Amino acid sequence: MTQKTMHTSDFRPLDVQAIRGDFPIFSDTPPLAFLDSAASTQTPRPVVEAMDAYYDTYRSNIHRGIYRISEEATEQHENARKKLAHLINAPRTSQIVFTRNTTESINLVAYSWGSINISQGDEIVLTDLEHHSNLVPWQMLAQRTGATLRYLEITDQGLLDFTQLQDLLSEKTKLVAITHVSNVLGTINPIQSVIDAAHAAGAKVLIDAAQSVPHFHVDVQQLDCDFLAFSGHKMCGPTGVGVLYGKLDLLEEMPPFLGGGSMIRSVERDISTYADVPAKFEAGTPSIAEAIGLGAAADYITQAGLASIHVHEQELIKYAHDRLQDIEGITIYGPAPHQKAGVISFNIDGIHPHDVAGILDTHNIAIRAGHHCAQPLMKKLDVIATARASFYLYNTLEDVDRLYEALQKAQALMIRRKQ
Ligand code: PLP
Repeated sequence: MTQKTMHTSDFRPLDVQAIRGDFPIFSDTPPLAFLDSAASTQTPRPVVEAMDAYYDTYRSNIHRGIYRISEEATEQHENARKKLAHLINAPRTSQIVFTRNTTESINLVAYSWGSINISQGDEIVLTDLEHHSNLVPWQMLAQRTGATLRYLEITDQGLLDFTQLQDLLSEKTKLVAITHVSNVLGTINPIQSVIDAAHAAGAKVLIDAAQSVPHFHVDVQQLDCDFLAFSGHKMCGPTGVGVLYGKLDLLEEMPPFLGGGSMIRSVERDISTYADVPAKFEAGTPSIAEAIGLGAAADYITQAGLASIHVHEQELIKYAHDRLQDIEGITIYGPAPHQKAGVISFNIDGIHPHDVAGILDTHNIAIRAGHHCAQPLMKKLDVIATARASFYLYNTLEDVDRLYEALQKAQALMIRRKQ
């Protein structure tokens, strides 16, 4: 992370035991060692309670009812938008568009911004580290328009090779779409330098912040990014809601993505005029309870302190590297712990990562195994899959110890089976 995005003002050590008390899923003995937060985090009580309050006391549609509970639902929904704006320091609340998830946010930009800004011969720069969500929408746009995709590659250490950036950027570059943090390697990309270089070349920048906004301070004004996308379910919020942030002038000039109710100002038989942003991009009844839950999740991680979450995850990832590298035949992918977020991908000689995950599950340890929706990166690493453990504010050093011990047992079991 660049120093510019790393605030330390809210740093205080996390009270992890108190935090775990907010997550009923950890109340079993022995507790679940949940090491798959990069896929989806767990949900604390305050988030569930905020959604329950909607369902129990003021459930109704928003923006249209002229009665008390509908007005309350509208107010709570729009309050959530304010909380999300505050979380990423968006200049205006209207720059927060609620979507279903990061994937939909990126597709919205590819479809809507892409339809008026990308044409034959234009170039879109991606990186080797992208999740399919920040790759397939651009392929589809390139196929529709005749634009070309170009890739900033990674070094053997899993860091972006900046020596290539200037060569990739030209007057043909219209967009750089880059992940802030790799969901496979954990690499924290120095996106400030990418944004500055892309802007100097006249290109816009979209940040896939699915793995950054939940884990450390991201300030869109400081970064000066043009678009930023993230998902609620990766930051203690519910599934089914995500965010697209965009610069106001860009959002205003973009055509709608979906048409229907809520996104119009007036409709006639043959033509309609559209509502202002963000409503222009929020056709139909939104995920109301989920947006309210996401607002509560933003409060939750803000109260825990994003600097504190980052420091805690740094401690866990460093400890995980120290312990896991002792395992015979292990390959840990990606850069050194201080250059990454709380994600560790690995393989152990002779054991398929799916077997690793299956055996760990019998020890009540949840990790992920597979291509992590990053098949081009798997190809680059010359593997078909990896095992991946990922951390969040509720994980402990004991979770790492359990991971280490269960991996040792998995290895012993596989050796016995092969004899
Ligand atoms: N981008 C990154 C870096 C991710 O890790 C993920 C999910 O794993 C996504 C995008 C897609 O998120 P969602 O499935 O919530 O749209």
